[in-house]
Amino acid sequence: MFVAGHRGLVGSAVVRRLAREGCEVITATRAEADLRDQRATRLWMEAHRPDAIVLAAAKVGGILANDTYPADFLYDNLMIEANVIEAAHRCDVEKLLFLGSSCIYPKHADQPIMESALLTGPLEPTNEWYAVAKIAGIKLCQAYRRQHGRDFISAMPTNLFGPGDNFDLQSSHVLPALIRKAHEAKLTEANKITVWGTGSPRREFLFVDDCADACVHLLQHYSDAEHVNVGSGEDISILHLTQLVCEVVGFKGEIVKDISKPDGTPRKLMSAEKLRATGWAPSMPLRKGVEETYRWYLEHGAAAQAPSAAASV
Ligand code: GDP
Repeated sequence: MFVAGHRGLVGSAVVRRLAREGCEVITATRAEADLRDQRATRLWMEAHRPDAIVLAAAKVGGILANDTYPADFLYDNLMIEANVIEAAHRCDVEKLLFLGSSCIYPKHADQPIMESALLTGPLEPTNEWYAVAKIAGIKLCQAYRRQHGRDFISAMPTNLFGPGDNFDLQSSHVLPALIRKAHEAKLTEANKITVWGTGSPRREFLFVDDCADACVHLLQHYSDAEHVNVGSGEDISILHLTQLVCEVVGFKGEIVKDISKPDGTPRKLMSAEKLRATGWAPSMPLRKGVEETYRWYLEHGAAAQAPSAAASV
């Protein structure tokens, strides 16, 4: 099994999860195979010939990074998925799982968002570049299935968090950013922390090890053209999430809103029905997941704070 993107949040969780399956896991560093490079990807794939692939390699980032680096988010992600999927086809890979994101759906999709809402309306502008690339990935899997009979499937995880997350305040997603902000405010005895936007957008969160478990479940039990939502089935407002993080971290000061920063899409709760129907459900409650992530952050703080424009999954 080739896990593409093994150093990222999802890829590293998939590698952890696969250790329980007794299959051989192979990975490639960027120096060994830059997946944006068609030739390098093909040569690496021909040399290693995996039976199956989890495609978790991507250029990822939070709302600000997405909005600031549109060309990187579109180009890097298109190249990675096109190169890996084409090379997988040429090398007769039996099963491939492509990972996308809940931002593929229209900004004003009905909630909870069904898989069938894809391409029914305009996207959220702050992350449309990433979303367009991920939609292309779904379509690539469907096209290779249709034209070449390939068993390539797609899963669309909701906002993920957990050990190995990116805690850089400029490029991270909201949950690790809040953990870091609350922790640093507690340490410096500050009387407030700032959240971006109005605090009213709602987001769904899934612990990354639950996501990895769902990926293995889908590899074993799902084989169809339509992508599958991977979520917890519950959402929470950013303000309530901030309160929860402050409780876990032990910061008791005020929460201040910075409305010069974007809110992004108002709500993106995905329907969990399709995945539940395959027999899978998450096991980590949100508060416990935040506690585990905070523990990881305390243990790996210095490394986790290394600044980067956008981490790779
Ligand atoms: P999104 O789900 O693609 O919008 O990505 P994010 O996880 O980056 O942001 C989710 C929501 O949290 C948005 O409404 C942000 O404005 C809000 N938010 C509040 N504070 C922060 C913060 O410190 N960092 C980030 N990334 N988002 C924040």
